[in-house]
Amino acid sequence: MSQYDFDLFTIGAGSGGVRASRIAAGHGARVAVAEERYFGGTCVNVGCVPKKLLVYGAEYGQAFADAAGYGWTTENVRHDWNALIAAKDQEIGRLNGIYRRLLEGSGVTIFEGRASIVDAHTVQVDGKRVTAERILVATGGWPELPDQPGAREYGITSNEIFYLKEFPRRVVVAGGGYIALEFAGLFNGLGAKVTQLYRGRQILRGFDIDVREFVAEEVRKSGIDLRVNTVIDRIEKVGDGLIAHLSDGTVLECDAVIYAIGRKPLTRGLGLEAAGVEVDEAGAIKVNDQYQTSVPSIYALGDVTNRVNLTPVALAEGHVLADRLYGNRSRDVNYDNIPTAVFSIPPVATVGITEERARATLAGGVDIYRTNFKPMRHQLSGRDQRTFMKLVVDRATQKVVGCHMVGADTPEMIQGVAVAMNAGATKQVCDNTIGLHPTAAEEFVTLRTKSPDPV
Ligand code: FAD
Ligand code: NDP
Repeated sequence: MSQYDFDLFTIGAGSGGVRASRIAAGHGARVAVAEERYFGGTCVNVGCVPKKLLVYGAEYGQAFADAAGYGWTTENVRHDWNALIAAKDQEIGRLNGIYRRLLEGSGVTIFEGRASIVDAHTVQVDGKRVTAERILVATGGWPELPDQPGAREYGITSNEIFYLKEFPRRVVVAGGGYIALEFAGLFNGLGAKVTQLYRGRQILRGFDIDVREFVAEEVRKSGIDLRVNTVIDRIEKVGDGLIAHLSDGTVLECDAVIYAIGRKPLTRGLGLEAAGVEVDEAGAIKVNDQYQTSVPSIYALGDVTNRVNLTPVALAEGHVLADRLYGNRSRDVNYDNIPTAVFSIPPVATVGITEERARATLAGGVDIYRTNFKPMRHQLSGRDQRTFMKLVVDRATQKVVGCHMVGADTPEMIQGVAVAMNAGATKQVCDNTIGLHPTAAEEFVTLRTKSPDPV
């Protein structure tokens, strides 16, 4: 018999923690998991899933308007925010139940409460001490709020948005990353007047420059007042509303100020320091390529390690760790060509490296193919929304090393492109593939004209 209560104790039943726990239990390990807030973690409760449901909700607004071009009469269209939130809550409740049953069905012992680490083999949950041969920290991240007057009193983050009791008619969004673009788009789509403020010159830092410029233009056309080189200095409450004072001296009257300025690893109060677990300057737990921390019996993965903060990555890390520790399978997570999408309206979808990175790293040069067109859907809808596609090709090997798109349905396209890129697809393979007509996706295999090299 083991000297410990469990073989594995997981802190956090989010994407990574649930996957690692149930796979480990499936391999025969005695597993416990502690969850203090919600089963399924950020993604299911205040992240990917409710966000996407609200984006779908917002897209219907456009669809009603577009439908007139197709002969529909759509008068008196109204939206009921509370009905959308209630439907969303019901779906999230269903998913919470599935996540809990996944754990229970795999034989995982559940502790509902906040856990902290006492030492290399001991965890404390709500005053009760439990021992384990190994501890896995999968506690995720938490949104940041700035130290500006009024920000903590009146500002909200992605955590609160999904539970707003009243629809905010005038919204200010601070940030130029994933969450800022997604919330600006969905509130705009649901009928709010949205102002988005970004501190730098162009939104979506780290994405391909053509994508950044194209999506900025598209979201402006959709009605969002996107202002760059601008931040909030302070917020004050006046009557029922808020006033955001901006760095350029202007003021904005609004009903909600949403901060989407990044997330921090959730490690506060976990007992890491006392246990000797090292963290970096951002508070992220440092791990080696086996997800092992500076304390050999303690592991960490997902957002709390602040590497690639996406659900499928946390899932893959949890699965691989459980397979390695308890399934006698030594495989690695493939971090190459991770596809990602920003569910703005229109969305951005991308995989591989940007043109800038390709030019900086590929000695043999780079071939660029790009196109920008009005998709067939909008020929009759009357909506001024375009689609952009770009291929980055390594000139020496002709391998496709980057694919970047903006436009309706592009997140549904990029997954297949990622498979092709991981299989080593060359530009010739794309050219030899017959298109699927009539789709926007077929443009991807009909790109023939190289963009001239920059001078
Ligand atoms: P989490 O899912 O955050 O799970 C951590 C869990 O640990 C939580 O349930 C928390 O309550 C629990 N916990 C924390 N501390 C303790 C403690 N001390 N004791 C007990 N329990 C504890 N990713 C995508 O791939 N696609 C998307 O479209 C997408 N959209 C997003 C939208 C938003 C608004 C946000 C905020 C994130 C989004 N993400 C998206 C990112 C994605 O949600 C995360 O990358 C993913 O959830 C990380 O999983 P995780 O297991 O590391 O942590
Ligand atoms: P991001 O890191 O994507 O964006 C943060 C934004 O806030 C950047 O534009 C940043 O500017 C800006 N910013 C940072 N600090 C300040 C400040 N003090 N004042 C004003 N602006 C500031 O973070 P998000 O919060 O949007 O999302 C967190 C992570 O969650 C994402 O990176 C992603 O990994 C994941 N996510 C994934 C989604 C998806 O897959 N669809 C959706 C949502 C989240 P600058 O660029 O200049 O630093």
